[in-house]
Amino acid sequence: MSRLLNLATTEAVGQEVTIYGWVNTRRDMGKITFFDMRDRSGLLQVVLVPAELDDVSREIVTGIRPEYCLSITGLVQARGAKQLNPNLPTGTVELLAKHVEILNPSKTPPFELEDTSGINEELRMKYRYLDLRSARMQRNIRLRDKLVTFMRDYLHGQDFVEIETPYITKGTPEGAREFLIPSRTQPGQFYALPQSPQQFKQLLMVGGMERYFQVARCFRDEDQRGDRQPEFTQLDLEMSFVERENVLNLIEDMMIKMVQTVTPEKHIQQIPFPRLSYQEAMDKYGSDKPDLREDKDDPNLLAFAWVIDFPFFEATEDGGWTFSHNPFSRPKPEHVPWLMEKSHIGEILTTQYDIVLNGYEAGGGSIRNHEPEALKRVFEIMGFDEEGIQKQFGHMLESFTYGAPPHGGIAPGIDRIAMILANEPNIREVIAFPKTGDGRDLLMGAPSEMPQKNLDEVNIQIKKK
Ligand code: ASP
Repeated sequence: MSRLLNLATTEAVGQEVTIYGWVNTRRDMGKITFFDMRDRSGLLQVVLVPAELDDVSREIVTGIRPEYCLSITGLVQARGAKQLNPNLPTGTVELLAKHVEILNPSKTPPFELEDTSGINEELRMKYRYLDLRSARMQRNIRLRDKLVTFMRDYLHGQDFVEIETPYITKGTPEGAREFLIPSRTQPGQFYALPQSPQQFKQLLMVGGMERYFQVARCFRDEDQRGDRQPEFTQLDLEMSFVERENVLNLIEDMMIKMVQTVTPEKHIQQIPFPRLSYQEAMDKYGSDKPDLREDKDDPNLLAFAWVIDFPFFEATEDGGWTFSHNPFSRPKPEHVPWLMEKSHIGEILTTQYDIVLNGYEAGGGSIRNHEPEALKRVFEIMGFDEEGIQKQFGHMLESFTYGAPPHGGIAPGIDRIAMILANEPNIREVIAFPKTGDGRDLLMGAPSEMPQKNLDEVNIQIKKK
């Protein structure tokens, strides 16, 4: 099978070539038929004239409809001056078909793929494999790939190591409800899908990896909003022997170069990125993720900002305390004594930093509490007793007693960044197989009931309503 991509036909005038792809549109003009054929490189106009086609092809062409998968062999010819199409990268040429083969016919798709903007989203999700063929999804998914590739290359260039951490693990308290997996081999016990690789990335620092990153899936069983999904992707990273400034500078440089590389048509409003304290952000904008764009109608304007100096703890309704962002964060250096004394709890500020982009939280991180006694204070303030601390966090605290290096990190959200760069209104548009607002996968039909046998194996009994 020797194949030429549609785009490459512009360099093949006068040659007989074979293309493979899908019928994007069909136009019948009397005796002549035009197909716009689509492949991963784009569209190509194919001209079908009965006299040029072999007998078998002439016969089958009449029944071919949009989304049929075909191979077409023909002659690449230059278009006449009047036929040039400046809107199409292949608009200088067309393929004069000689032989057409149907690789697979197609039913009529349940919606037009040409412009999906007005199509019911649930229908698009049920037929995602068709939706993915649309120009919009092709562009978004390829843009996301460019973004991830850029981040990987950038971090490798900075001496980071990509390391996978477990998805089937123990819960880690970062504020969200966890998805649970019953254990078959340990009846009555459960794994949890991680809300983030937080503990593992810190353990990797204890393990001397020094600079880790991962394109990591995170799982949170929360009620969904436009920019949330039950599983989403972070560029998770962690570094040893750094202070806040080192992490912020690295990420700022990465973001600037990412925009230049992935979406060079976009411009960043302010470099270096402005920094706001949490208090300033709330006082001035009433939000800890303010949209600082001076012109919100400019689709190519990106306004990054850092928000810093968040309160470490928040009062709970029952009069206790919980962490505001991440229990593993270190307080600002000047507030470590308050933590150790468990005084001024509401005034302790954390080293947490969030990166904000056009009004979205595009990532967050902190310098961590690498001293076991200080970390223990956090859990005590949150109301854990010694036994509870040991049960939940004993492994972390113990690991820190073996020369844990000072460390810190961050986790930019890949879905949100891709969404903003693609000028899309929600992250589902940059995820190949997203879920609905209420957590259903309409294509696969998940979640679904399980046969009794499977439930028995994992010792699960369904409560009757
Ligand atoms: N684990 C944090 C989060 O998922 C990110 C971090 O602190 O690095 O938001």
